[in-house]
Amino acid sequence: MFERKIKIIEDFLGSYYKSKDEFLFYCPKCKHHKPKLSVNIDKDVFKCWVCDYNGRTISHLVSSYGKGHNRSEWKSVCGIVDMSDLEKPEEEKIIVTLPEEFISLTKKIFCGGRLVIALTGSMPRE
Ligand SMILES: [Zn+2]
Repeated sequence: MFERKIKIIEDFLGSYYKSKDEFLFYCPKCKHHKPKLSVNIDKDVFKCWVCDYNGRTISHLVSSYGKGHNRSEWKSVCGIVDMSDLEKPEEEKIIVTLPEEFISLTKKIFCGGRLVIALTGSMPRE
């Protein structure tokens, strides 16, 4: 995911330098001869150290300077990120106290990405 984002930006801003957590691209605004546009994928921010061109989200940079296919690809990549950022539903746990002679027919069923434990069985008749 991370690399895909860098690839998209690289496609319209050109080569970059990596320093610590940031990627330094050539600034499309001031076109400084050194890569001064710092892009932080983790924080989703960018800033040019020369002309102070910045934005709250990298998608702003992509929509301003990216080509059509860059924008659509960015959207699809971010769409996937949003999905994985969603909290995974906790496994539903059903705790029941059952007599030893209970015939357990517990089945684990995945339904739409959610783990559903279906309890089927019958209590022994007295
Ligand atoms: Zn700049």
